[in-house]
Amino acid sequence: MKKCVAIAIDGPAAAGKSTVAKLVAKALNMTYIDTGAMYRAVTWATINAGLDPKKEEDAKTLLPGLKIDLMEDGRVFCNGNDVTKIIREPIVSGNVSYIAAMKSVRLALIDMQRELAKSKSVVMDGRDIGSYVLPDAEVKIFQIASVETRAQRRFIENQSKGIDTTYEEVEEEVRKRDYIDSHRDFDPLVAAEDSIEIDTSFMTIQEVVDAILKVIKEKTGLEPQCH
Ligand code: C5P
Repeated sequence: MKKCVAIAIDGPAAAGKSTVAKLVAKALNMTYIDTGAMYRAVTWATINAGLDPKKEEDAKTLLPGLKIDLMEDGRVFCNGNDVTKIIREPIVSGNVSYIAAMKSVRLALIDMQRELAKSKSVVMDGRDIGSYVLPDAEVKIFQIASVETRAQRRFIENQSKGIDTTYEEVEEEVRKRDYIDSHRDFDPLVAAEDSIEIDTSFMTIQEVVDAILKVIKEKTGLEPQCH
């Protein structure tokens, strides 16, 4: 059987990881896995059930039987509901870091993520992929950018998706998520020791993709067929 390869792309909120990870996965014909969407889905499910997303005893009641499907076309389903759009709304973005700080939730989602990476080559983006979820990943990238750059990019993206927020609200949310994500007790946002840091503040998306593909080629020999 062909060996599965794992590419981990981690970094703070809105650093452009998902855009880049999708393109890298496409270029190498691998499966893209958006782990942030999984935490967002649990957050949606908690709020939708009328439970408190700040209380672990509330959120964890949803874990048995929880089903999250990440479709190839980017749609996200949670317990059969198409949550693709709603998980990007401020109500979810503003609460997801509380849910993601819960050990019971993390352990359940990490199990699912490891399972997904068992049988196929993946490009997985998140906060802890290189440091905890897939410590043996062949390539680990830690993607950063200044908070202003990240907030500006996310603000423009929100506008294009019809999500109603001001720049100031987006910057505040990005700062808050970074703080909670990097200060939680269990499995915080941290660069894996053997990760390669890429500061994307002054890079185009294509430049970041090319830089990552170059690292992948150096480390694994894999390269795009027609790039
Ligand atoms: O990647 P995205 O910004 O959509 O992730 C939403 C939130 O999910 C993050 O702010 C973080 O709280 C949580 N997350 C996490 N670990 C991951 C992926 C996301 O804690 N691997």
